[in-house]
Amino acid sequence: MTVGDGHEAPDALRVTLLGTGRPKPQPGRTGPAAMVEAAGKYFVFDCGRCTLQRLEEAGVPMGELRYLFLTHLHSDHIVGIPDFWLTPWIFGRGNEPLRVWGPAGTRRMMSKLAEAFEFDIHLRRDVDERLDPGGVEVIAEDIEQGLVHEEDGLRITVFDVDHAPIKPAFGYRIDYKGRSAVLSGDTRYSDNLIEFSRGVDLLVHEVAAAPPAELQRSERLAHVIGHHTSPEEAASVFSQVKPKVAAFTHVVSYGIERGEIVERTKAGYSGKLVMGEDLMRFEITDEVTVVPPHC
Ligand SMILES: [Zn+2]
Repeated sequence: MTVGDGHEAPDALRVTLLGTGRPKPQPGRTGPAAMVEAAGKYFVFDCGRCTLQRLEEAGVPMGELRYLFLTHLHSDHIVGIPDFWLTPWIFGRGNEPLRVWGPAGTRRMMSKLAEAFEFDIHLRRDVDERLDPGGVEVIAEDIEQGLVHEEDGLRITVFDVDHAPIKPAFGYRIDYKGRSAVLSGDTRYSDNLIEFSRGVDLLVHEVAAAPPAELQRSERLAHVIGHHTSPEEAASVFSQVKPKVAAFTHVVSYGIERGEIVERTKAGYSGKLVMGEDLMRFEITDEVTVVPPHC
C-alpha cells in the first residue's frame, strides 16, 4: 500500500467510497454508496443519502451516471435513488436509460418510483423543458448470484451474503485486467463472501460495534448489531481473504470510537487496514494506492 495520487495509470481499477456512514445522519459521512471506475465508465453500488452530491464532489460527469447496482433494499442504501435517477436526466444523461440491478423487488421498486414522480417526469418531458424521453427510462433487473454484467473487459459478479432476515442481500466482486475489488454490502460474517473474495486486491467491508452495556440494555440494538460484522469477525474474514488492502465502510458504531474498531480488528489481523472515509479513493494497479479525500 502506498499513499499518493496514482491517477495516471490508464489500466487502473478505481474504487471511490462515496458514503461510509450509518443509517442515522452524521457530519462528514453520508449514506452507503461506492463508485467503481474502469475503462472510462462509472458503476455505482448502492445509493444512500447524498450519493449524487458525493459523485459531483468526486468530479463524475452526470451524463455518465447510467449504471446502479444494489446490495439490498434497506432504506439507508436506496434513499438517494430518486436524485441519482432524475437529476442527471436534467443535466446530461441525454437519451440513455438508467440501468439498475438488484435483489428481488428492485424492478417493482423502480416502477413504483416512476409512479411517485410521474408529475415531475410528465412536466419536464412533455410540457416544460421537453427533456429526452429516453433519459428517464429505467431498465431494472432482479438478479441472483452469478455474473451480472460484462463490458470492455470489466466483469461484475454478485454473490449472496448473510444479512438475514433481510434476504436476499448481496456483495459484489469487480474484476478488470487482473485487478479486483469486493464490496461486502451489509452482512454478518459470511463464508460465501470469503469464497468469492479469494485473491482480491481490495476488500471493502462493513463493520458494526456497540458497547456491551448498551447491547445488554437494548434488545433492539443487539438485534440490529447482530445483522452485521464485529471488528473481531472482520479480522477473521480479512485473515482468510488476505487482500492487499482491507477497508471499512458502513461504520455502525454506537459510541465506540473508530480508532477502537481499527485496534480491535488489528488484534486479529496483521494486514493493511484502512478506516474508510467519504471520497477516499483506491487506485488498483499492481499495488493498491490509497488516496485520501480531497487529494
Ligand atoms: Zn442493511
